Amino acid sequence: MNYRHAYHAGNFADVLKHSVLFALIQALRVKDTPFALIDTHAGSGCYALDSEEAGKTGEYREGIARLLFPDLHHSAHASGAALPPLLRHWLDTILSLPGNEHGLKLYPGSPLQAARAMRDTDSAQLCELHPEEAASLRELFHHDRRVHVHNRNGYEALKALLPPKEKRGLVLIDPPYEAQEAEYRLIDTALKAALERWPTGIYAIWYPIKLRSQVQPFLRGLQHGSARRVLRAELLVHPDDSPLRLNGSGMVILNAPWNLDQVLREPLRAMAQLLSQERAAEWRLDWLKQDNDAQAEPKP
Ligand code: SAM
Repeated sequence: MNYRHAYHAGNFADVLKHSVLFALIQALRVKDTPFALIDTHAGSGCYALDSEEAGKTGEYREGIARLLFPDLHHSAHASGAALPPLLRHWLDTILSLPGNEHGLKLYPGSPLQAARAMRDTDSAQLCELHPEEAASLRELFHHDRRVHVHNRNGYEALKALLPPKEKRGLVLIDPPYEAQEAEYRLIDTALKAALERWPTGIYAIWYPIKLRSQVQPFLRGLQHGSARRVLRAELLVHPDDSPLRLNGSGMVILNAPWNLDQVLREPLRAMAQLLSQERAAEWRLDWLKQDNDAQAEPKP
């Protein structure tokens, strides 16, 4: 376990992952009844952007910083365009984090972003295998009775945590992919068991894109799995033809809210414009599987 998220916090992949997470939590908040969030790979919860780790890679500068300070990047795409409300709202939650009063100093990880978007009655189960990361997480949430930290393997924990007593909610699966094929196998096995225990849960899985061919079998498997609806959202800042670097990333959402594609379309378009590097960034948003009920739902 060499992976430390502190080197990557706030990069272009986090921006996609966390804006989708935010949209999903907003969708869950529409109903008054409480929901549960289960984060299988939680990380340490909050990252200092002036740390040695963040400074070494500077990845957040090509990610969250570009969204917050587009004028610094002289991007033809970036200037002047108003951000879609979902993205604006999400960015406000980052800037209003205690510690960011005088600029972007901290980047909240998925647990902290979720906790800030949850209501008093909602709950979160956070799993993190690395002892030091788990200790930081525990420290961060020691005062928050809605949040439970587990220093254990997130895939295994799903067996005990599903279905949650709230009967509705979201599982976020965001592993490090240190060995890609092995990680896909772990996700696949865990998802099959999880969907049997809790067929109606929403499952959001982040994946890296290096070579397109590495991702296809995984997505095809989900398409033929038992989830009723499968939505894929991707953002690529480089062509997806090199195994040597992170060219882009995706979020695939099982049992996604029926209108999530409409909710994410403009935010994805805006993110692609703001995150473009040597060429225009590409984005992709489509249903890999859609049930008839979804088409029958009333449009807003
Ligand atoms: N979800 C976090 C966020 O968005 O802020 C980032 C998570 S980071 C990509 C992956 C984390 O998973 C690392 O902190 C790593 O220590 C942890 N990890 C690796 N294998 C794990 C496992 N089997 N169960 C739980 N955590 C694991």
